[in-house]
Amino acid sequence: MPAHVLILGGTTEARRLATALAARPGLRVTTSLAGRVRRPAAIDGEVRVGGFGGAAGLADWLRAHRVTALVDATHPFAERITANAAEAARVAGVPHAVLRRPGWDLDDDWQPVASLEEAAQAVPRLGQRVFLSTGRLGLAAFAELTAHHFVVRSVEAPEPPLPSHCEVILARGPFSLADELDLLRTHRIDALVTKDSGGAATAPKLAAARSLSLPVVVVRRPELPSGVGALPDEEAVLGWLAGVIPPGGACAADTCP
Ligand code: NAP
Repeated sequence: MPAHVLILGGTTEARRLATALAARPGLRVTTSLAGRVRRPAAIDGEVRVGGFGGAAGLADWLRAHRVTALVDATHPFAERITANAAEAARVAGVPHAVLRRPGWDLDDDWQPVASLEEAAQAVPRLGQRVFLSTGRLGLAAFAELTAHHFVVRSVEAPEPPLPSHCEVILARGPFSLADELDLLRTHRIDALVTKDSGGAATAPKLAAARSLSLPVVVVRRPELPSGVGALPDEEAVLGWLAGVIPPGGACAADTCP
């Protein structure tokens, strides 16, 4: 029976891992998406869409689909699915790894905060025109800041309620340093609010803010579930999988569900 890897996706790293694994003969690879994005980028291998129904539902899915290894390659801020994945893997007895791109190196004078709500509290001290680069969800935290002008950039339209003075730019990274400098200057941005998502595709906005000496507020990423470690990139996950799935793809007798 071919080994079966389930990747919890929604990130560039998950897509790249699916491509690397789908090329292997005799290995079944499925990527799971939450279904938040209407037109997701193409993914190699099988794709399933939608929630599992909590940790118990995911554990059932692992058993029913004879999953040999579970890779949680979700976004660093997707806290609930990461907790569910750890619990489901434990309950179903399936080897589990977390692929988490490292966070960014933050400057000493940038302000780390615990949540979008805390970031909104910091805004009045920063300036009038704010580049809000925190994704399309959770912008309600800034909705009461009626005296400020926000520029929001996201791949798909942000979810209301939005701040009353809000300009939306729909765009998908990667963005170059020149793009980001242009955006900050064109929109006369005074401050940047972002999440510590990490990754190269959106890092140039930080370099641009640094070079213009703009204040930066960074929402810290949530902790991983206790006892769960992270692998930093696809290579590390492929190395881990090599210990779980023998060459040729068929699952080892002791890991075969
Ligand atoms: P979340 O709060 O951790 O998860 C909420 C629920 O959505 C989960 O309990 C699960 O439902 C379902 N879910 C999440 N990821 C799933 C997946 N890959 N496959 C199947 N079901 C999934 O997640 P989120 O922050 O809303 O993020 C949703 C997705 O968007 C993730 O796949 C993540 O990688 C991607 N994403 C998130 C962010 C971000 O900033 N949070 C940014 C970029 C991409 P059930 O309990 O019913 O299983």
